[in-house]
Amino acid sequence: MPLLKVENISAGYDGEPVIDALTFHVNRGEIVSLLGPSGCGKTTALRAVAGFEPVLTGQILLRDRPVSTPALTLPPEQRSIGMVFQDYALFPHLTVADNIAFGLHGKTIVDRRVQVEHLLDATGLANMGSRYPHELSGGQQQRVALARALAPRPALLLMDEPFSNLDIDLRERLSVEVRDLLKSEGISAILVTHDQHEAFAVSDKVGVMHHGTILQWDTPYSLYHEPNHRFVADFIGQGRFIDGVVRTPQTFDTELGLLSGNRPCSETIGSEVEILVRPDDIVPDHDGDIVATVRDKAFKGAEILYTLELPTGTRLLSLFPSHHDHHLGDTVRVRMAAEHLICFARGAHNRSTEPIL
Ligand code: ADP
Ligand code: MG
Repeated sequence: MPLLKVENISAGYDGEPVIDALTFHVNRGEIVSLLGPSGCGKTTALRAVAGFEPVLTGQILLRDRPVSTPALTLPPEQRSIGMVFQDYALFPHLTVADNIAFGLHGKTIVDRRVQVEHLLDATGLANMGSRYPHELSGGQQQRVALARALAPRPALLLMDEPFSNLDIDLRERLSVEVRDLLKSEGISAILVTHDQHEAFAVSDKVGVMHHGTILQWDTPYSLYHEPNHRFVADFIGQGRFIDGVVRTPQTFDTELGLLSGNRPCSETIGSEVEILVRPDDIVPDHDGDIVATVRDKAFKGAEILYTLELPTGTRLLSLFPSHHDHHLGDTVRVRMAAEHLICFARGAHNRSTEPIL
């Protein structure tokens, strides 16, 4: 039995839906993300799960019990849900320990102290219990906010862009720490973010949202390698599209010659498609049959991301090990190293950017 079921909900403001037909579930101990660009409805979806926004249609069930239907919105405090927001929202006049203890009503002083000490330890804040929020860095304040949300041991933790005020190094480190902490405490969570690295670092499953709806609900691996929608292919990871014509269900005629993948494409034979080419699909090879000109390069440490131009003018991205140090204008030889090819009907891009609502 999933812990949380969100079934076909719509929600919005002034009777106008901004999320529609949203369906997903969260199993016990699972961490999921809603990932999408700003304005796509992530916060509205999270607020509906929390009980701050009513649903216009559909229902939300916690442990199979309806908590939101068009006729009922169980208040947030009765849902056993914890929340962490982007702006830490700590009480400035309370110490770190008192902030964390804030939600622990009805417990003995000893129980509260034990739980607070445990959370200070678990969030890397040992010995900081007597400090005040203004004496902490942004990362430490967000750890306090997390500890405070976890203190009442919620069944489900909701996090809305919790790391976006932090610098990128800290963001990545803290997201991995939060994942480890939630997994070790056995707490299920929904993370809302526009940052795919954050979503991928933390989540078992990710829903990519666009214009108020989830286009694909999948593992990070499948979202990257098997996007089911042109928007998802564009939004996740890097890559370019090359034009092709379907020759057999697994073969495409392109300017790179006949390309074959190991799984069938759903478009009909003879139709015009765009084929997704990721930077890791194009590899350097002295004997490679693709000749291209280096037009741009971005040093990434272990790798260099090259923008390569084909004789036709089409540009592709390619990751080379960083000791392959070419100059702009150099000619390089590469080959396709993709095992499976993902194609979309040509023009699908335009359709996908239209509002769905
Ligand atoms: P996200 O969190 O993905 O950025 P939101 O859920 O905040 O998206 O917003 C989705 C849409 O709903 C946006 O078009 C936004 O302008 C609108 N919206 C958000 N909050 C309100 C509100 N309180 N009143 C009216 N419209 C809102
Ligand atoms: Mg938001």
